[in-house]
Amino acid sequence: MIRFVLAAVMISTPAFAQSQADLYAKAREIHERVLTIDTHVDIPFDFATPAYDMMKPGPRGQQVHIPTMIEGGLDAPFLIVYMGQGERTVAGYAKAAADAFTKFSAIHRAADELYKDKIELAYTAADVRRIYGAGKKPIIIGMENGYAVGKDLRLLDIYHGLGARYLGLLHNGHNDLGDSAQPNANEPAAEHNGLSPLGKQVVEKLNELGIMADISHASMKTALDILAVSKAPVIASHSAVKGVYDHPRNVSDEVLDAIKRSGGVVQIVAFDPYLRATPPEKTKAVQALQKTMGMRGNGDIDKLQPGQLQAYEAEMANIENQWPKADVTNLVDHMDYAIKRIGIDHVGISSDFNGGGGIRGWGNAAETLNVTLELVRRGYTEDQIAKLWGGNLLRVMEQVEANAKRPRKRR
Ligand SMILES: [Zn+2]
Repeated sequence: MIRFVLAAVMISTPAFAQSQADLYAKAREIHERVLTIDTHVDIPFDFATPAYDMMKPGPRGQQVHIPTMIEGGLDAPFLIVYMGQGERTVAGYAKAAADAFTKFSAIHRAADELYKDKIELAYTAADVRRIYGAGKKPIIIGMENGYAVGKDLRLLDIYHGLGARYLGLLHNGHNDLGDSAQPNANEPAAEHNGLSPLGKQVVEKLNELGIMADISHASMKTALDILAVSKAPVIASHSAVKGVYDHPRNVSDEVLDAIKRSGGVVQIVAFDPYLRATPPEKTKAVQALQKTMGMRGNGDIDKLQPGQLQAYEAEMANIENQWPKADVTNLVDHMDYAIKRIGIDHVGISSDFNGGGGIRGWGNAAETLNVTLELVRRGYTEDQIAKLWGGNLLRVMEQVEANAKRPRKRR
């Protein structure tokens, strides 16, 4: 009680207000100088159509647009070619590849045609720096779910040609490449006991092509197997840490240590359910709402009709009011933990915007400065913040590129 009163007195003093203003000004300056990379921004199938115009906020509460990126100082997002896990059949693989091509072409339409004066596709770390230096926003492509490879590794050559620079091998539910951190309800805890033989070939091929292997959504055993196979640094593109909150999607200390040994990076994600325990009542309320809307999860939001969508979002807002999301301090708690464990050179930042991500204080691209503000508040220096916001990721990208050029025997 006494502490509470003291805090209230402190907040009201002019000195305290001045120190807050100074902190904000310092954060603003640093934020403007550093290149900020967000390694996970989802896009729907109708991205770069009138339904998702990057120049103006759309009806679906999309969280990333060019004006909001400029406003919030979000410089270089990885846009994600994501395919949901479906049937492991010839027809299923064909559909997954077709879905991948739809998203690749949407990103190319955005970067090569619609908004080419404002954004540009980056194929290398050097491209990212060059485009940023020229005053445009670099766009980089990541893929989520190795299901899109089917059983045909030659597809990876095509995806690489289209700009894919990381591949998350797994998503929810096991696939042919390995075990997921979150098996489907009808699946055993482990199907392959980690990475499958095909998954091993995929990692080797990613190394050859210069695509970063991403362990997010993989089981911890699969992740360790990927880390053991890869000859290049490995990333977790959007994960938090079990050391702060023990969620199946978060990475263990053992995996953090292996990421460090690989030279890679863990990109801590602003995804509420991974940052801290969700009250069970909230989970129930969300599940009940999604069930009445015929949705199987967050990913089905794109399938809602406009009228349904309004009702869904109004009800979600009620739920969020009742049980508020995690905030930026929770995100940076996970970062602090990872930095203490594996060092400042192996940690980064991701939002998972448009895919369920977004927290209080960093709810969309326009609010990106708040992350830097919290880092400054905790005493991180500009050099450290530059590493966290993208320096580390670019170093990893460069190492993965260099490893790909290394001469190797043809298999
Ligand atoms: Zn994901």
